[in-house]
Amino acid sequence: MSLRNDISEIVLSEEDIERIVTHLGETITKDYEGKTPIMVGLLKGSVLFMGDLIKKIDAHLEIDFMDVSSYLGTKSTGEVQILKDLSGSVDGRHVLIVEDIIETGTTLNSIIDLIKYRNAASIEIVTLLDKPVNRKLHVDVKYIGTEIPDGFVVGYGLDFDEKYRNLPYIGLLKPEFYS
Ligand code: 5GP
Repeated sequence: MSLRNDISEIVLSEEDIERIVTHLGETITKDYEGKTPIMVGLLKGSVLFMGDLIKKIDAHLEIDFMDVSSYLGTKSTGEVQILKDLSGSVDGRHVLIVEDIIETGTTLNSIIDLIKYRNAASIEIVTLLDKPVNRKLHVDVKYIGTEIPDGFVVGYGLDFDEKYRNLPYIGLLKPEFYS
């Protein structure tokens, strides 16, 4: 496949994503046997990942979404704003938060605190990508698709200024296209 001129490298191909998502789905199926978790997708980046992941989980589950924002362009502001809250209660429920990428840990720390406060029975996190190099706050992440080095990635739900979400793969955006 020839690369677009704004992408310097394919970080995860469609085949890589399929393999990773299938493996995560199988693991989650085993771990949640007999339970009906609520999978909470963080909008908008996790939508493609969540859609594929739930098809690989062979168990009853429910889905809900939250829209939180800690980013303006490519720079973390260190603040999290809730733009859309969950539509249902998590009281006494097993919550599995679905994230596209974890970088500083700011977004997840705030959401975990909120869901704990709302009395969930358990809270775990599944992320497709982990970028630990810029971590500021510790987060216990049970399910990690793959770790990636520093660099700004787009595609498969991940955006730059709301574009690129529809790429079927995850690619490294050339710095001249975001700086
Ligand atoms: P954190 O709060 O862990 O720093 O950031 C998590 C959020 O930052 C992700 O949900 C995503 O929206 C955004 N983010 C972090 N790194 C990247 C990246 O490389 N590319 C894109 N498109 N978004 C990122």
